[in-house]
Amino acid sequence: MERKRRGRAMNPVSIGGYIQTSFLDYPGSAAAVVFFRGCPFRCPFCHNPELVIPGMGGDSFEWRDILGDLERRKNFLDGVCITGGEPTIQEGLISFLGDLRSLGLKIKIDTNGARPGVLEHILDRNLADYAAMDIKASREKYPLASGWNGDLSLVEKSISLLLGSNIPFEFRTTLVPGIHGLEDAPGIGDMIRGAPLYVLQRFRPGNTLDPAFAETSSLPAWFAEAFRERVLPFAKEVRIRG
Ligand code: SF4
Repeated sequence: MERKRRGRAMNPVSIGGYIQTSFLDYPGSAAAVVFFRGCPFRCPFCHNPELVIPGMGGDSFEWRDILGDLERRKNFLDGVCITGGEPTIQEGLISFLGDLRSLGLKIKIDTNGARPGVLEHILDRNLADYAAMDIKASREKYPLASGWNGDLSLVEKSISLLLGSNIPFEFRTTLVPGIHGLEDAPGIGDMIRGAPLYVLQRFRPGNTLDPAFAETSSLPAWFAEAFRERVLPFAKEVRIRG
């Protein structure tokens, strides 16, 4: 697919990445993946700094080109995963999701929960079929894990919206050395109490927003399993992924 440089003002959404087909990003589905630019968080372990930090470069994609590609290939796809960055900060997101709906594709939205008003709008308008929301850490460690000093009640509002929604969803946490300890499990569990599915992922070294994390080793498998056991009382199902 052709990649184009463009000015942000020309489009209602800013797209910095596109995968035509993935079997990993939408549970049980063959899905295209659209990566939106921009995020209010600065998680030091973020693997997409070029999407998060303005001016870091990277590819740009035209909304209409992506819709055209999806139109041509919709019979070979189940859905589209909308991720980032943080998709809910895009002014044109609702229109974009409406266009995807008109193609008949299922929609999964990934979010950090910082814009509950937009999430509520998406849920009210039936513009998502699956949602995955990051739970960065326990309340006390949210600023450390997210690099964000915003109002945590926004994240908690998003949690409540999903818990009260009628679509399948998951909460998920990336377990990061130097940030997460086993003592954090009950605090996170309290935030997501009653969740149908909570997913734990182990941080992998690589390209990270804070270079100090680039070569940091993953936490061991036993740690993820011990964390899982501690959070089990709070969710109906807790999985370790990857
Ligand atoms: S990992 Fe953090 S900084 Fe990176 S896109 Fe997600 S919420 Fe934003």
